[in-house]
Formats: sequence, C-alpha cells, structure tokens
Amino acid sequence: MGNKITMVNPIVEMDGDEMTRIIWEKIKEILIHPYIDLKTEYYDLGLRKRDETEDKITEESAFATKKYKVAVKCATITPNAQRVEEYGLKKMWRSPNGTIRAILDGTVLRAPIPVSVVKPSVRTWEKPIAVARHAYGDVYSAAEMQIEKPGRVELLYTPEGGEPIRELVHDFKGSGVVLGMHNTSDSISSFARSCFNYALSTKQDLWFSTKDTILKKYDGSFKDIFEKIYNSEYKTKFLDANIEYFYTLIDDAVARVIRSSGGFIWACKNYDGDVMSDMIATAFGSLAMMTSVLVSPDGCFEYEAAHGTVTRHYYRYLKGENTSTNPMATIFAWTGALRKRGEIDNTPDLAGFADRLERASIKTIEDGIMTDDLYCLAECPGKKSVFTEDFMRAIKDRL
Ligand code: NAP
Ligand code: MG
Repeated sequence: MGNKITMVNPIVEMDGDEMTRIIWEKIKEILIHPYIDLKTEYYDLGLRKRDETEDKITEESAFATKKYKVAVKCATITPNAQRVEEYGLKKMWRSPNGTIRAILDGTVLRAPIPVSVVKPSVRTWEKPIAVARHAYGDVYSAAEMQIEKPGRVELLYTPEGGEPIRELVHDFKGSGVVLGMHNTSDSISSFARSCFNYALSTKQDLWFSTKDTILKKYDGSFKDIFEKIYNSEYKTKFLDANIEYFYTLIDDAVARVIRSSGGFIWACKNYDGDVMSDMIATAFGSLAMMTSVLVSPDGCFEYEAAHGTVTRHYYRYLKGENTSTNPMATIFAWTGALRKRGEIDNTPDLAGFADRLERASIKTIEDGIMTDDLYCLAECPGKKSVFTEDFMRAIKDRL
C-alpha cells in the first residue's frame, strides 16, 4: 500500500447502534483505514453511552458539527418503552436525529443510489429524485385534543402587549378531535435557503409543493417566503447555473413526479417529505439504497443512511449467524462526508477517493455481487447474494 491520503480537518464521527454499528466498524476497517489517515472527532451515540451521559453526548456531537461543519452518523435507536426495558434506561431519551436537527436547524435531503441492475418501479425515471424535507414543526410538534362532548374550540393568540385575537375552529355538537400546529418564518426561510443552496451545489432543478389553495395563510406563507428569497437572493445564480425553481400544488407535483424522468430535487413540508421520501425510496428499489444528509443554513452537513439499525439482522448476528445486510447507504454516508471535507478543505485527493469508493461500490452490484435485499430485485444474469463482509471485500477488490 502506498502513501495514505491525509486530512486537514476532522470529520465529526457519530457512532450508533445494533447492526449498523457492526457495519460501521467494518467499513472503516476494510474500506477507509487502508487508504486514508482518518481524522475524526469521535462521539459514541450508542444507546448505552447516551444513557450514561444523560444524552449530553448527542448535544455535544451536534455542537462539534457546528464547529467542524462535516459529520457522518451511524443509525441509532430511538428509544420506546420496550427499549427502556431492554437497556434498563434512566429515561426514554429523545430521538438523536431530533436533537441534532433542533441544534443545527436544517433540511433533510434524501436521494437514492442508482444502480443499473435495479430498475425503478416507475419506467420513466432515468435519474434519481432527491426529496428535501423540512425538518421543523407542523404535525411533529403539534398540540392535539380529544373532544368528548359538545363545545366550542377556538384558536387564541395573545400578541405581546396587545389584545387577544380569536379564530373559531369548530362548534362541536358531539365528540371529535382537534389539532393546533405551527411553523416559524425563520425556520421556513432557512429551509428555503438550504434547498436553494443544495440545488446550486448539485446543479439540479428545484421543485417545491404545498397545498396553498386550501391553507391560504399557512401553506401560503411557505410559498411566499420561498418566492421572496428566490427572487432576492438566488434568481441570478439559478440563471447562471442554468437550473430552474418551480412551485406547484402538491397534488400536481405528485402527478408530475411520476411522469418525469427524474434528476431534480423535490422540496416538501415536514409530513409530505416523511411520506414522499419513503415512496421514492421504495420505487427506486430499497430503503437500504437511500442516502440522507442534513444541510443547515449556516453550511453544516451531516451525512447518514436513511434506514435504521436493522434490528432483526442484529438479533441474528448475536446468535452467531452471518447476515446479508446492505451497507451501501452507510458507505455513501462516509463518502458524502469525505467528499464534502475534501471540498471545504480544498483537498482533492480526499474528494477523489470518495468518488472512487462510490464507483467501486456501484460496480460491485452491477457486476452481480450484492446483498439479499437487492438480490431479490436485481435484473442481472448470474447474480450472487453474499454476506455483508464479503460484499465489502468485493468492493475493496474493485477500489
Ligand atoms: P430499519 O432498521 O430501517 O429496518 C427495517 C427493515 O428494513 C429491516 O428489518 C430490513 O428488512 C430492511 N432493511 C433496512 N435497512 C436495511 C439494510 N441496510 N440492509 C438490508 N435490509 C434492510 O427500521 P426499524 O426496524 O423500524 O427500526 C430499527 C431501529 O432503528 C429502531 O430502534 C429505530 O428507532 C431506529 N431507526 C433509526 C433511524 C436513524 O438513526 N436515522 C431511522 C429509522 C429507524 P428485513 O428484516 O425484512 O430484511
Ligand atoms: Mg418516515
């Protein structure tokens, strides 16, 4: 082995849980350490460490990301009641991704890794479609109420130093449900800037959709804020880059996405993005082939896989069985972070290595060597299903 590639600044490394934690170690051992003199600021976000540090470690890792600008994150367990018991937790800690997003304030961009042997369910799709999901507010931090008997429900807003303003929601004649949700102009503005910046950095058109015909004020604000920021800050940059910003209603967007040939970014409100990114991932093949990056308005990038810790495979691994878990999205989280580090630090060797590792990974699958999840989908003569580690060694052979 010749000289290893050196790094100027570190990447923030956020380790995680279960099967993805096992894969994490293997990726570093087989595909990174032999080639790169890796510099990371290591944070163990494994559930035990989060519990031991009262979840301080998660906050620290997010603040380190603010400092170093680039992070790579392994999938982590979001505890529920069953996990509290399984791990004997002091508390049902919040989702690490929620904590990190709250500190970095950004937009989650998800894009599938295209491989020629897995054809998208939608025949017209030739290029990947990235979904940009607003990661703040709406139904994810809403107040809801069950109404048991007749009564009036109103929205009440008390402006600082002003008179209260009321808006009737509904006069209930019987039982029912109500919901109050919010967003802030600041968060919508930073969502817009993250999307425009990502479109410019990847040279792809940006689509944005809401339901502003029904929610004239709520979704109307999203539309207006995007338009204002586009016109004042991005229009000439988009013209120079020969890309387009385009707004449409969500139902029209869905129809256009299905008819399109792909190759653009689809910006969605929080809930729309949650649902649509899973649809896009599945239609492109597999959740295990979906990458994810959190882009903050002040230019921080946190890369991860879109899938979770693959618990079912981990329990098999604990019984001593070999598993065929797909490491692609986690490998691409590493390459995304290494490339971005290389771009920011102006170290083309590092960015070049990320490109080569991605090409070698895709070539391995296109040569017919793949994990079980893809084996079931691939249209490829002589395809072979292999265990995770053998798959990584096949990538190494091609690197
Ligand atoms: P999951 O880990 O994504 O796995 C769901 C199923 O999808 C797996 O059982 C497996 O199907 C398939 N799958 C996902 N990734 C795969 C891969 N890389 N290779 C092969 N198959 C893959 O979701 P989950 O089981 O709902 O959640 C498990 C844990 O992950 C939970 O504790 C949850 O809180 C956490 N989670 C974390 C994140 C994150 O950190 N970003 C995101 C989601 C969930 P088969 O079993 O049929 O093979
Ligand atoms: Mg979801």
